Amino acid sequence: MNYNEKSFALGSKRSIIREIFEYSKVRASELGADKVYDFSLGNPSVEPPESVTNAISELIAEFNPTALHGYTSAQGDVQTRKAVADNINKRFNLDLSADNIYMTCGAAASLSICLSAVMNDGDECVVFAPFFTEYRVFVENSGAKLVISTPEYKTLQIDVNDLESKLTSNTKALIMNSPNNPSGVVYTEEKIKQVCELLERKQKEYGHPIYLIADEPYRELVYGDIKVPYLMNYYDNTLVCYSYSKSLSLPGERIGYIAVNPKMLDAKKVYLAVCGAGRSLGYVCAPSLFQKVVARCIDAKVNIDAYKTNRDLLYDNLTAYGFDCVKPDGAFYLFVKSPLKDATAFYEKAKEHEILVVPCDDFGVKGYVRIAYCVDYKRIENSLDGFKALAEEFEL
Ligand code: PLP
Repeated sequence: MNYNEKSFALGSKRSIIREIFEYSKVRASELGADKVYDFSLGNPSVEPPESVTNAISELIAEFNPTALHGYTSAQGDVQTRKAVADNINKRFNLDLSADNIYMTCGAAASLSICLSAVMNDGDECVVFAPFFTEYRVFVENSGAKLVISTPEYKTLQIDVNDLESKLTSNTKALIMNSPNNPSGVVYTEEKIKQVCELLERKQKEYGHPIYLIADEPYRELVYGDIKVPYLMNYYDNTLVCYSYSKSLSLPGERIGYIAVNPKMLDAKKVYLAVCGAGRSLGYVCAPSLFQKVVARCIDAKVNIDAYKTNRDLLYDNLTAYGFDCVKPDGAFYLFVKSPLKDATAFYEKAKEHEILVVPCDDFGVKGYVRIAYCVDYKRIENSLDGFKALAEEFEL
């Protein structure tokens, strides 16, 4: 082989989400954008906060360009890391320092780095279905094996009994994503406590640490009085993968961080393994300008009212038509049970109404589609007749 076969396979097969997104663009050029109801991609539809756009202009005006655009320390500017650590401490009553924070190019980089930092060949990483499909790519690239824990199907919460049956002496890490993509479910504190108790017990039984990797790009996107437990407060061997892609609507700018719990066993060594993994994966440093933006806008938040309004419109109408789905408390996805056993067949049917949803067989549970509602309200409104027609077609 003149190239790496695995990389070729990854590069030549686009993710289903990207495939649908590309199709929607072609269809929009044929019919007009307002006639195609694309719900494929999790691209924020809410603008970044004004303080963020102001900070960008101020930094460009204030800074010497070579300093602004130059390399930073590999782990990130110390001022930014300190601002991040202080923010975590203030919000979750913890005691992190800048030396527990590693700035990254978003959650995808954070996850790849954490996995490379802790996994060895033959280790296993458990993910909770339904899960973000890229986990498989990141886990397998770290040399580990992906193991899927299935949920309680009624609520899409974690099934702790199933989890226990999936743990082995090879289990080295778990990835927990709450609020969840694709279900929008926020795992309850009770579930988190049960999972952490189980992991404590299994660590003792196996005689090695099991790392809990919290994937948190949607932490700030919750609707109503919902608590998203901060995993470091429940389990010492926790690494947090955070991202500003959704919380500040900056997905193209590639900025986030890893927080290593200082209470973790061998915390300093794990942090150094994180630095080493970032180095070997070629990250060099996170974007310099956006590290500085984050430091200035550490308390900024996007206005999530529009997402909540979209959620309510979509959830209320789809369930009234007879579709079956769990009401999402966070993120910006609705995870709908496909009326056909084969989610791809239902996706094709929805396509006949120019409705583009994502069939989710690769997300670890069969027979669901995902609707990303981070779109214009009008797009949802205009799609409702199509959803209603689908419900009638399938006699829901
Ligand atoms: N994890 C989950 C669950 C996601 O949904 C996404 C992006 O949609 C990512 C990680 C990657 O996000 P980022 O843009 O921060 O790399």
